Amino acid sequence: MAKYEPTTKDNKCVFCEIVKGNIPAPIFWESDTHMCFLAIDPNTEGFSVVISKEHFDSDPLSLPDEDLGKLIIASKKAAKVLENYFKDVGRVGFIIEGMGINHIHTKLFPMHGTGHLKGGKWEQLLFSHKEDIWIEKYDGYIISAGSKMADLEKLKDLALKLKNSQK
Ligand SMILES: [Zn+2]
Repeated sequence: MAKYEPTTKDNKCVFCEIVKGNIPAPIFWESDTHMCFLAIDPNTEGFSVVISKEHFDSDPLSLPDEDLGKLIIASKKAAKVLENYFKDVGRVGFIIEGMGINHIHTKLFPMHGTGHLKGGKWEQLLFSHKEDIWIEKYDGYIISAGSKMADLEKLKDLALKLKNSQK
């Protein structure tokens, strides 16, 4: 199956069409206001998408507070289904980018290999990723791993500019 295009050939929002049942999707969780289905182009088993049944444009930080709250709670409920199902998943990553399709959605990333953290346990996990990651320009993904230690003076300078920009 090809990736979803943002709109159908007759220019309808593809996620709205999934809500209406006009486009089939592997839905596994649903409430009155939201639904969750497995991504058709997953990069890990169980990678899922949570959408609101009502159409909102995809920038989460432009959503009304109440709708953003509902979206996050719906995502939490769907994530619990994944966490309970996969024995090796104790944490589910929660991503909101909204760049692929202009209908509000979140992405759930089951972190396989974290089963020992079920029930809210935590331990610092160390990875062997490259330590020189620097994203100069958004290229279709975000990454949560840290990189090299930054220059503290530069951080202080940027923090001051950000602080002053609010005045
Ligand atoms: Zn839509």
